[in-house]
Amino acid sequence: MDHVFDCTVVSSLEQLGYGPFFERQRAALAAAGEPLMPARVASGARGFLNLLTASGPQRVPLAGRLLHEAEDGAALPAVGDWVGLRPGAVVHRFERRTCLLRKAVGRQPVAQVLAANVDTVMIVTSLNADFNPRRLERYVEIALEGGARPVFVLNKIDLCADPSAFVEAACALAPTAPVVPVSAIAGAGIDVLAAHVHAGETVALVGSSGVGKSTLVNRLLGAPVQVEGAIRDSDDRGRHTTTHRELFVMPGGGLLVDTPGLRELEPWRSDDAAGPAGFTDVEALAEGCRFRDCCHDGEPGCAVEEALVDGRLAEGRLTGFRKLARETLHQREQHDARARAETKRKMKEISRRMRHHPKA
Ligand code: GDP
Ligand code: ZN
Repeated sequence: MDHVFDCTVVSSLEQLGYGPFFERQRAALAAAGEPLMPARVASGARGFLNLLTASGPQRVPLAGRLLHEAEDGAALPAVGDWVGLRPGAVVHRFERRTCLLRKAVGRQPVAQVLAANVDTVMIVTSLNADFNPRRLERYVEIALEGGARPVFVLNKIDLCADPSAFVEAACALAPTAPVVPVSAIAGAGIDVLAAHVHAGETVALVGSSGVGKSTLVNRLLGAPVQVEGAIRDSDDRGRHTTTHRELFVMPGGGLLVDTPGLRELEPWRSDDAAGPAGFTDVEALAEGCRFRDCCHDGEPGCAVEEALVDGRLAEGRLTGFRKLARETLHQREQHDARARAETKRKMKEISRRMRHHPKA
């Protein structure tokens, strides 16, 4: 009996962010003889997932099959993922609608999921030494590459005599992203911020450690659920901590994911990424360059460098663009090299089998 899909249950799943994208996948599996109960990953560690389900929270182990079939860590269920349950085990991860990814720390080109199925990314910074436009550009790229909307949250305005210069600087980084100055402590601007959290949608808070993400989560939830100011393990290798990454349901119906501050922040680029996302200003200027493949680096007739000279484009913006463009290129070379190595390994495996079983 497909008890999950009586209307009241569907509506409560929708409050957790469920929708047609996942329902189509569930229905296709059910039709193929695999009826699964959908659930959302709130957090997880060591082979167990804490899930939000239509019938409340559950702690469920991952089926061994899921663990063995995963090509890499990014294929495993992460916070925000929708998964399929059979009694007693998580047996399936639904395809992601959107996904925030970075390159995992280390030399290998491996993706790491920061949060899955996110609609809006609140890029939190504080109005002091933390404000770093080049770092914020990285978060914008992660949001846009992942299919989510970026919103800048400028926290701790109570410590800042004049936030207007910061607001302007943030606007210049992503013309379409709203900029919301707030004080998580004093409460200023929190209502404006809350208006960006829609029922059934998921918001991820990202930003350096100490900018006030936990304080904001508690403010938005109206209850102290995250430990504030504690030295949390913002460990880049993703070691387990209790407050690591967690999905919370807001009283108004939206969902919040708090993420730990990350020291290294290299966005993950898909194989078809042409260049860093979020630089529409540079791209628009580049339309005017004499050469189609202009690198804006000393070429004659470069409209981007002209804009630099007459102040229409900030120097730092071009520096940021160049750095991220180089990274994108390097990552793509790494992906290609990895794909070649994988093909070689498979060819070897086939010829080895042919030698041992010539007729097979
Ligand atoms: P997180 O690491 O990003 O989760 O940051 P926390 O929420 O733990 O906050 C770090 C520190 O900043 C704590 O001591 C908070 O009390 C403080 N803090 C957070 N928001 C504000 C704010 O709006 N104004 C001021 N003055 N301090 C804040
Ligand atoms: Zn150019």
